[in-house]
Amino acid sequence: MPNPIGSSQWVLCTEGSGYACSHGIRDAIPSHFPKNSLAVVLEQVEHEMLLFLPGKNQQFFVRSQGIEQVDIYSTGKGFQKKICNVCFVLKSMDEFQVNQTDAKGRKTRRPSCNICRQDIDRRAIPNREKKEAKRLRPKKGTLWQCSICRKMGIVGVNVKVVADHNHYAGRWRGFLCDSCNTGIGRFRDDENILRNALAYLKEHEEYP
Ligand SMILES: [Zn+2]
Ligand SMILES: [Zn+2]
Repeated sequence: MPNPIGSSQWVLCTEGSGYACSHGIRDAIPSHFPKNSLAVVLEQVEHEMLLFLPGKNQQFFVRSQGIEQVDIYSTGKGFQKKICNVCFVLKSMDEFQVNQTDAKGRKTRRPSCNICRQDIDRRAIPNREKKEAKRLRPKKGTLWQCSICRKMGIVGVNVKVVADHNHYAGRWRGFLCDSCNTGIGRFRDDENILRNALAYLKEHEEYP
């Protein structure tokens, strides 16, 4: 099975259907995926291409008529369209929420499209969880210790304490320093990702 990692020949699937291919076995019936999905070319067969769609994590045989060339570098900031980092669909800029404005005054948009973000936004924190966190929040000016990095600080003076939530269950978990809260968020609260990070560190461990 060809490995898509390292491939750089990107195409655009304008039609949104193809024959899924798993472990070298081609489906008999075509299946659908979002139109304008980005894909890397694995093989060129007659009138067809074997593509890998990262947004689907799946290989498809797609007919050549449904495939267009695409310049991936003419997407994103400063261009009309952008590739979502979850579904890998090329979408117009207004399908990405404005996040902040950069130093040059240009709008920065979120890396995931509105459809892919729905899932994230749905997990809003219920009010009772917010209230509970507010009630138990460490008092300003008190000595406090973060349960992850173990650093101590004076609340609201030299440490920013934030209420940490489980975004899947919408539950308040505890208080963390801002840095650790952002840290676990970057690892998407995912045990497997954290384990991979740990394995990576161990693999590259060096003693001074
Ligand atoms: Zn998306
Ligand atoms: Zn911390």
